[in-house]
Amino acid sequence: MSKINDIYQEVILDHNKSPRNFKQLENATQHLEGYNPLCGDKLTVYLYVKDGIIKDISFLGSGCAISKASASMMTDKLKGKSKSEAEDIFQSAHDMLTGKMKNDDDILKQGNLAALSGISEFPMRIKCATLAWHTMRAALNGTHQPVSTE
Ligand code: ZN
Repeated sequence: MSKINDIYQEVILDHNKSPRNFKQLENATQHLEGYNPLCGDKLTVYLYVKDGIIKDISFLGSGCAISKASASMMTDKLKGKSKSEAEDIFQSAHDMLTGKMKNDDDILKQGNLAALSGISEFPMRIKCATLAWHTMRAALNGTHQPVSTE
């Protein structure tokens, strides 16, 4: 398992060092801020949705490695997905990050995001990892109220 953990560690470091889709979206149809006061993570998720499809998604902000890596992987996973696919992806990501997903095969199906599966053992970090996801979902549902994990 330790070899897998090393690979996972590298995935997180890589996404933290070079976050994907880390920019403002000029043509965003929705954007929303999310805060995790417990850790100080603060980010904005931008969505460009057309015909029910997430044509583009990005984020900006500052926070710990886990919040940033999770947001970065989320944008990779959701680009090109329909709203209902995004909801399914949110549910399984949320299940995994909060430790509800117990089956190793299910966890591995999460791809790179599986690198964050270990954080479910650290309740303080769960909020870091789920922040971008909750913010994305609220933005997608048309919420204008910033998301706070508190
Ligand atoms: Zn954090």
